[in-house]
Amino acid sequence: MPEARRRLIDAARRMAPANLNRGAAGNLSARARENGEDGYLITPSGMDYDSLTPEDIVFMRFGGAPSGRRKPSSEWRFHHDVYAGRPEAGAIVHAHSPFATSLACLRRDIPPFHYMIARFGGDSVRCAGYATFGTQALSDNALAALRDRCACLLANHGMLVFGRTLDHAFALAVEFEALCEQYWRACQLGPPVVLPAGEMQTVLAKFAGYGQQDS
Ligand code: 13P
Ligand code: ZN
Repeated sequence: MPEARRRLIDAARRMAPANLNRGAAGNLSARARENGEDGYLITPSGMDYDSLTPEDIVFMRFGGAPSGRRKPSSEWRFHHDVYAGRPEAGAIVHAHSPFATSLACLRRDIPPFHYMIARFGGDSVRCAGYATFGTQALSDNALAALRDRCACLLANHGMLVFGRTLDHAFALAVEFEALCEQYWRACQLGPPVVLPAGEMQTVLAKFAGYGQQDS
């Protein structure tokens, strides 16, 4: 499936220009089927995205060994657990983007300071408890923070976002970073006014039928 591998590399290379990453931090994955087996394609650990070729992408089969010449991202556990626990997830973006990561270092949930918070499934985006990168504990904390949501912060680390497709997950990651920047800027002037729970329920209901809903 070289086309799917190329799409993953293309998305990885777009992370820096989209202000989602600097250097080789972060990782991406997308559900895939190779040689009749279901799993996901994931970026290799610690490699410069500019140097990647399709053979560097790792195929992780569900319930089996990884295949490929590279070691998978050290965060393969939370990628695996999101796919296992959230059937609606088709692709995942993990980034150390500047504003999301700054807020994650304060270990703050993002409240509904803007109605667009509802894009991520609820009336807040939670910050997952801290655990060492690449551990099952980090994955467990992330999955708990993602309950009824498609994004979370990872304490003292970064952000995690999933979507239906790679393009959808990428667009949500860009939107989430923009919201984190707006929240950070608003906080410089004082505590932002938070929308009431009833208004967020109205917005969540509107979002259920919003846009073209086709990608
Ligand atoms: P990998 O290069 O192993 O994917 O690690 C980057 C990262 O962001 C770890 O949290
Ligand atoms: Zn990371």
